Amino acid sequence: MPRHFETSLDVVRELKPSYPVYCLRPDILRESAQRFVEMFPGRVLYAVKCNPHPEIMRYLHEGGVRHFDTASTEEIALVRRQFPGMDAYFMHPVKSRDAIRSAHRVFGVRHFVIDTESELEKIRTETDGDPEIVIHVRLATPPAGATYNLSAKFGARPMTASELLKKVDAYGYETGLCFHVGSQCTTPNGYRIAIELIRQVVDFAGVPLRYLDVGGGFPGQYINQRAPDLEVFMEEIKDCIRWLDYPDVTYMCEPGRALVASGVSLITQVHLRKEDQLFINDGIYGSLSEAVTGNLRYPVRAMRVKGDFKNEEDTLDFTIYGPTCDNMDVLPATVTLPADIEEGDWIEFGHIGAYSNALATHFNGFYPELLVTVSEAFPFIDGEFPQVG
Ligand SMILES: *Cc1c(COP(=O)(O)O)cnc(C)c1O
Repeated sequence: MPRHFETSLDVVRELKPSYPVYCLRPDILRESAQRFVEMFPGRVLYAVKCNPHPEIMRYLHEGGVRHFDTASTEEIALVRRQFPGMDAYFMHPVKSRDAIRSAHRVFGVRHFVIDTESELEKIRTETDGDPEIVIHVRLATPPAGATYNLSAKFGARPMTASELLKKVDAYGYETGLCFHVGSQCTTPNGYRIAIELIRQVVDFAGVPLRYLDVGGGFPGQYINQRAPDLEVFMEEIKDCIRWLDYPDVTYMCEPGRALVASGVSLITQVHLRKEDQLFINDGIYGSLSEAVTGNLRYPVRAMRVKGDFKNEEDTLDFTIYGPTCDNMDVLPATVTLPADIEEGDWIEFGHIGAYSNALATHFNGFYPELLVTVSEAFPFIDGEFPQVG
């Protein structure tokens, strides 16, 4: 069990950490899961890749998540170790034969994704023709408001998807269709466009559909990427489901980011100030790579243990460098902080739960791994950065 603190400031006061510290909010993680499970009219699969830390998975499970979207043998094993009775779904369209075999034989996985006929044949061979499996055909969707496109590498075009669906049905497997609108999708319309395409695929294939999986992509809230509330996305999806009017279909979704983003913050320390440049102990090779890949700007606040910052109004825009020796280890946008911030002060990044520790490398010997829990939510006020100290 990680150590528990009331607030992030307590963490700083007590540990005075010179290393990065992840602060998990169990209540927020449980509530996010609970809200999602209550609102979505079907199965909610947590996309394990987003944050596979066992503590994170534990709180999501406590909040009601009972299914897991996995993409590798290791992720499937991780789910099974922690939740022996839970279902893992193998939602990667390209799998090694060994991975298919062990998923099916060792872990009893029943749901597999394809976007080509070769993958369908692979699965058929490696599962020894077991008729009790479900094959989901992944459809590529047009880009619509997402920060990351997840349809360039994977996904069949509508006509191919229809043909694949027919083959899946002809083999006697239960049929599914799935898509991913792209990660950090800030407009509900992305799901509508995808579902309209789904209908064409189903009509064209003319075979019964058993599962429809609307994927992940539900957004987190960042300083420069504000999105409508989750409810707005759910209303749009429910509206599309009414329009589809497929009574025999089980609906699924695979949220990652939306379940975990706001439930974690990261405390970093300033190790050197050079005028308007700050050198801190985590960076783009650690927890902050999405600042580059997704141009995400996290809400931040400064913390000081001895004394206070002089004047809350007096701020400066700082360039923030990470700890490695690489030139690229710098945040692409400046961060507004108290003008008198100095060596030894701390900077807390909020809403860092998604694709942070999951993507952190050991480059140059820096690896953020300490984790504590805190009760207080990260205060996220538009454009502001409350300081504590
Ligand atoms: C990454 C991924 C997800 C999760 O996406 P989020 O944008 O984090 O919700 C879900 N499904 C698949 C197939 C993925 O690759």
